[in-house]
Amino acid sequence: MTASGPRLLLGAPIATEMRARLKVEMAAFRRRHGFTPTLAVVFVGRDAPSAVYLQQILRSCRNAGAVGRLVHLPAGETAAHLRREIELLNADPLVSGIIVQMPLPKRIPLSVVIDAIDPAKDIDGLHPRNFGLLALGYEGFLPATAQAAVEILKRSGIALEGRHAVVVGRSNVVGKPAALLLLREHCTVTVCHSRTVDLGAHTRAADIVVVAAGRPGLITGTMLKPGAVVVDVGINMVAEGIVGDVDMASASAVVSAISPVPGGVGPITNAILLQHLLRAARDQVEGPPDRRLRRAPTRHPAGSTT
Ligand code: NAD
Repeated sequence: MTASGPRLLLGAPIATEMRARLKVEMAAFRRRHGFTPTLAVVFVGRDAPSAVYLQQILRSCRNAGAVGRLVHLPAGETAAHLRREIELLNADPLVSGIIVQMPLPKRIPLSVVIDAIDPAKDIDGLHPRNFGLLALGYEGFLPATAQAAVEILKRSGIALEGRHAVVVGRSNVVGKPAALLLLREHCTVTVCHSRTVDLGAHTRAADIVVVAAGRPGLITGTMLKPGAVVVDVGINMVAEGIVGDVDMASASAVVSAISPVPGGVGPITNAILLQHLLRAARDQVEGPPDRRLRRAPTRHPAGSTT
């Protein structure tokens, strides 16, 4: 950190660059194939933060030259009907990618969604096939938020190889895949969660801390090593507005770099989702260049034992 505070890892400039390239590639796809890829966004119920996020993703689609199709089901929807809706989207050739907005109503198990989405359209990497590919170091669709958390570090020029990264949170959508991606970048990775004893002892030992717990103020300056780099993935609605999981005031006095909330990981997540949409559309129309499994581009994939 400098006298003026830590370096802020901002998502917007990275996302702007990604979106500009996407727009060009999306237009080229349309010229070549005569249709615009559609992202189907399935939303069940009325959760207010979800509704805000949905508008953002639909706007991102428009800006990138893709079609965003909102499939809004009432709060009382049955799991069977949700599954049928997803199957219809799987069969629709204009729909290249499908995401389902979380949280789902408590009555509907997440497995209904995860099992139903065609892995070729699962652009947020929820399906076991895509998650298995990630774990073994093959190319599949990565969960966009986890990818964004690692991308913001890489694109900000933060060295990762050999460094100790602590991930706080072990969900299948963020924490666990972020840990696997950091392993792929040759970090030494510790994963902490709600049952971790003495969280601060772990985070204080870390060069890099990625926090995805959904608990405002969970990580404070006293829990961080001087000079550490922090990526705050949390999005929490509090009385003052949107905040992350890190107490920015106390953390800023200690760390060398930190991603703010809002303005850090969030903008990159949407741009990555749209990149995945375009890749899914290409694969579906042209077929992947090589139908066999492809290794992810890294010297020692996560599944490597070396
Ligand atoms: P989740 O509720 O599924 O998982 C939270 C994880 O945090 C769990 O593994 C839990 O064990 C851990 N945790 C909870 N309390 C803890 C504590 N006191 N100490 C240590 N670990 C604790 O949430 P999620 O879907 O993984 O999302 C995490 C956060 O990321 C949320 O705030 C969510 O809004 C945010 N999010 C951000 C984006 C983005 O684009 N920036 C996208 C998705 C989710």
